[in-house]
Amino acid sequence: MFNGRYGVDKFNKTMVFLALGISIVNIFLPYGTFKTLLSVVSTALIVYTVFRMFSRDFIKRGKELQKYMEVETAFKQWTWRIKANLKKLSIESIKERRKYKYYSCPRCLQRLRVPKGKGKIRITCSKCGNKFEAKS
Ligand SMILES: [Zn+2]
Repeated sequence: MFNGRYGVDKFNKTMVFLALGISIVNIFLPYGTFKTLLSVVSTALIVYTVFRMFSRDFIKRGKELQKYMEVETAFKQWTWRIKANLKKLSIESIKERRKYKYYSCPRCLQRLRVPKGKGKIRITCSKCGNKFEAKS
């Protein structure tokens, strides 16, 4: 079937998965411009995938694959960086929550951070200067 044809590569696989993903999401969307647009996109992806599979121009398809791999690598690095940052953020906020207690100023609702485990303390609001007592 694929004699002399380009066949399947990573780019094609990703496009098929993307088209499938879009179609699944589309099931749950209400009728409208966006739904139509998405179905056009997923159809275009499938058409392009089939076109690439049956293509005889190996050089062009190879170049496309190379371009795709560059984009995929950049995307992976980008998502990895976001994940690493999110992880760092959540670890920091957990550490913070262990050390501090949060209060809202009764007068101006400013959020105030006080160290934990100091017993009954007087808190002075950093925004309006209001003083109130609280247990830390
Ligand atoms: Zn205040």
